[in-house]
Amino acid sequence: MPSREELICLLGLDPASVETYSVMAEAARISKELSGGRAEVHAQFAVNLAPCSCNCLFCSFAETNKIFHEATELASGEAVACARRFEAEGANAVYMMSTAGHPFERFLETAREVKNNLKPETVLIANVGDQSLKNSIRLKDAGFSGVYHAVRLREGTDTTLPAEKRKRSIRNFQEAGLDVGTCVEPVGPEHTNAELADMIRFTASFHPAYSGAARRIPIPGTAIAGRGLISEWRMAQIVAVTRLGMPRTVMGHCTHEPCALGAIAGANLFWAEAGANPRDTEEKTEESRGETVNSCRTIFSESDWGVWEGRSRYYENADSPRRF
Ligand code: SF4
Repeated sequence: MPSREELICLLGLDPASVETYSVMAEAARISKELSGGRAEVHAQFAVNLAPCSCNCLFCSFAETNKIFHEATELASGEAVACARRFEAEGANAVYMMSTAGHPFERFLETAREVKNNLKPETVLIANVGDQSLKNSIRLKDAGFSGVYHAVRLREGTDTTLPAEKRKRSIRNFQEAGLDVGTCVEPVGPEHTNAELADMIRFTASFHPAYSGAARRIPIPGTAIAGRGLISEWRMAQIVAVTRLGMPRTVMGHCTHEPCALGAIAGANLFWAEAGANPRDTEEKTEESRGETVNSCRTIFSESDWGVWEGRSRYYENADSPRRF
């Protein structure tokens, strides 16, 4: 695996150079070797929509961004219908997301209802705020196989959440037996190659179900939107370097939002989305930015990737090597 200095060097290459194309080709080769040339499509729906006092500057739910003013949540039946639709469309894993302030008991209640109405083999994943070990065990008991959780770039500066609290949650999830998928996100033009390299190394350090990289989508009218947007090309370079920085025991490699350049650079995991979305200003992202399971499959297909049928292999088991 590359050292910190080598990662910084790779991230500093001109994205349009032959060397960067070589890095992307090598990352794709590794991803294809590890996953047998078959990518996965996971699908996330939001159980609620509410202004969030954690105020992550890049999130449309942040109170301070004044995008959403009312709190709403799905009835259990609506959540079940959404999860079953994703299951029927062939998503390899179904994610339930809530804002950080959504009552945990309510989330668990909905989760139990969803789990009871999915096929036993369907992989259910939680995307929730920071949790204690006790709550992590309750997530596991409710039927979740894993979680998505990330220490975001400039955590504690662009968010009100201390990085240490995010890391503690990751340890709690893993101790409870939940696989943790993660990502280097949300990348903006201001992040230095050293910051990216440090985050790549952090994600590699805890044996995630998958890592990857995702760029920040500017929310119109917010202060952070003024910092700009990196191109898909630059993002693809970061996706590729992140793959090179991961142990080969990590089979999954994500990028968001889904794009062919990301797949060409080694991403073998995309997300379809429904309901509220922290990168969208519309309440139903499926009518706006959100991709569907089918559109994600098409992007993989156009990038010469096959798509895995059945339950996610990335969330299989935290203890054993994830070789295909
Ligand atoms: S990213 Fe999560 S914790 Fe941060 S403001 Fe949005 S919902 Fe709240």
